[in-house]
Amino acid sequence: MLSTDGRAVLISVVVAAFCAAVAHALTCNEQHACLKAGTCRKTANATSLGCSFRMSLSAAGARLLNASNGGGGGDVTGTRGVCAPGMRQSVSVHTDAAQCTRRRLYPDALNAEIQLPPAAAVAEQAPEHRRWCGAWIDARPAAFVAETKWAFFDADDVTADVDAVIAARGSSRVAGQDVAKFRSACRAMLGSGALGVAAQQAYEHLLSALQVDNLVTTDRGQVLRAAGRLAAHACDAPATIGLTDAGATFAMHVGVGVAVDGAALSDALYAVGASRTVRSEARAFAEQMEDAVDNAASAAYTIGEADADAVARGAHPTTASARLAYESVNPVLGAFAHVAEQAPAEVTHSYLRGLAAHCAHALRTAVGGEQGGLVATTVRTITGTSVPTASAVAERNGATPAELRPRALGRLEGRPGEVLDAFVHLNGTHLRAATAATWTALRPLFGGGIPPSVKEQCVEAARLVYPNAFDRLAFDTLVTDRLYGRLRPMAEALRMQVEAAVQRPEFAATHGDAGQILMLHNAKRATLRVAGAPRGSWGGRSTAFVPPSLAASDTALTIMLKQAEALFLDRVGLATRADSICEHPPLFDARARNAYLVVSSKFACAMLLPGMLVPPFADERYDDESLYARVGYVIAHEFAHVSSLVQYWNYGAVEAMLVHDYASSTWPEALADRIGVWAVVQTGNVRPERLCAHVSQLWCARIGTLADRTAEGRSHPLSNERGDALCAYLKTL
Ligand SMILES: [Zn+2]
Repeated sequence: MLSTDGRAVLISVVVAAFCAAVAHALTCNEQHACLKAGTCRKTANATSLGCSFRMSLSAAGARLLNASNGGGGGDVTGTRGVCAPGMRQSVSVHTDAAQCTRRRLYPDALNAEIQLPPAAAVAEQAPEHRRWCGAWIDARPAAFVAETKWAFFDADDVTADVDAVIAARGSSRVAGQDVAKFRSACRAMLGSGALGVAAQQAYEHLLSALQVDNLVTTDRGQVLRAAGRLAAHACDAPATIGLTDAGATFAMHVGVGVAVDGAALSDALYAVGASRTVRSEARAFAEQMEDAVDNAASAAYTIGEADADAVARGAHPTTASARLAYESVNPVLGAFAHVAEQAPAEVTHSYLRGLAAHCAHALRTAVGGEQGGLVATTVRTITGTSVPTASAVAERNGATPAELRPRALGRLEGRPGEVLDAFVHLNGTHLRAATAATWTALRPLFGGGIPPSVKEQCVEAARLVYPNAFDRLAFDTLVTDRLYGRLRPMAEALRMQVEAAVQRPEFAATHGDAGQILMLHNAKRATLRVAGAPRGSWGGRSTAFVPPSLAASDTALTIMLKQAEALFLDRVGLATRADSICEHPPLFDARARNAYLVVSSKFACAMLLPGMLVPPFADERYDDESLYARVGYVIAHEFAHVSSLVQYWNYGAVEAMLVHDYASSTWPEALADRIGVWAVVQTGNVRPERLCAHVSQLWCARIGTLADRTAEGRSHPLSNERGDALCAYLKTL
């Protein structure tokens, strides 16, 4: 038996060595050719034995950037080597190790290599997803409990590439002066261990913004304004202030804030050198506030419009002219105002100093991580009987659903895993959760174990406060002018066809009369935006961001406070001008391979995240068929979500249309899919059978043997079956 085993091993070694040798030879040929042409350079560790090389283009340029490389081949190395069908061997830009990456195909994006051979497809009576993607599916086993999607497996690599480009070019040069100033201030602060000094300066900046010593504490309006002022700097305060929707436009929203624990306040004050008296006064105020919240009926802390208005004015005077929404039962804010009325002025002053010190500490932790902190941030969650706790910080950090967890100022974490169009209904909750984030809720993301370098810490901290600049970097890295230019007429052509679709008897019947009117109204007005697109361009925000004025002596933490306030003012502008809800800041990171539609009875705006504007969804060199069949299908699907206001559905008609092919929980997606592909075909750019092939590849996946394949209960149809169901419908066209 031993000899049999030995032979088996030997054979496999020989086969592997043969493949490696072929790959090696091809790699060397390729290296020779590209060195001659000047499109690549030898890596530092290249020797006569190893022909590793690096493309001279940047990371994204080599594999994923949509930049034209002068009409050369789409393959990075021209060899499949040991890689699976549809993949090509290349060299990791991060590690210089050989790796398999997606083969770039253009102008026709349909990948013939991953299809089953026609005879095999006939022999096994293959469903469409196997016919178009079977060779790739069969090439590797999937992880046991997971599935690997053909169109998404490299999404994280794109993110890494964008980051590598940012690191190589230096985000400062491309993202503007402020990011440069911040990063240099941040490196100076962390490099010299001056976090404490910076926290002190941030504390003093807040004190001067609050005008603590001049605050007349018997004036309820003044006290509430101080709460608003803190909230506008993304500090934990008795109230939150953020953006919400008011139909087709925005309103500012005053929500329930937090009561910070007295001991935490005292510790934070100690760190900024406050006296023992100030510390004990702050603590006493915090304890009285807790008692007030616990003992009074929550009705005692009902907030009136004048109170909400004071908070908003305190945040910034211009906020007062914006529409205002507020939570009328606000026990924390009510207790804060109540205790301030009773307490001696200096006690209230000390409490506000404590909140400023706590904020400076939270900032310091957001940049330096826990190692930079000296006390654990303790924030008391208010859990009165009838009291809403949704905005309590503890929940934001822990039990909050991922889609409501802030990742940066104005930005949500998003869902783990790859779900195309993370949500379709924007309710104000998403906007509020993103825009009312405080420093306490923001934590930089560092891989476990290895302490981040100062440079990494500063990039991550920059990400927290300059989400728009980082979106722009992702956009610039991934989207070329030519691709961006092609998207606009395509989106309009697709929108027109979606508008036509919802008037066809087939699709109109899915809605009652009122629903049909709404669908059509939204389809007419549906717009497309692209996260990170230059402001003023067709897919970008229309107004310019006004940066804060920075002083040369500002430390990184003070710059963060000023930037938070500038972002706050940017949002206030949306509400005071009554801008279209389509002008909302993107709710997810631009690197994500995703898109979403925000839709209500008054508006519909699709947002494409640039992480999606790469192969296999988009490439500037795709022909019209491939562009329409791929990212065009995504855009049409998003527009077609105007059919997702299920309260207006004619449920029987939807059921009759979809029950055979889809689980009922996926019907909003299924209907959007059907309207979307109908619209794509109607543009005349893709024949139905070709669209079937393209979407079959976009939705195909390797399924792990233990993967959960229960269709009912999910929002989106299962991989593989999604393409099959679309093909079945396309055959009827
Ligand atoms: Zn969808």
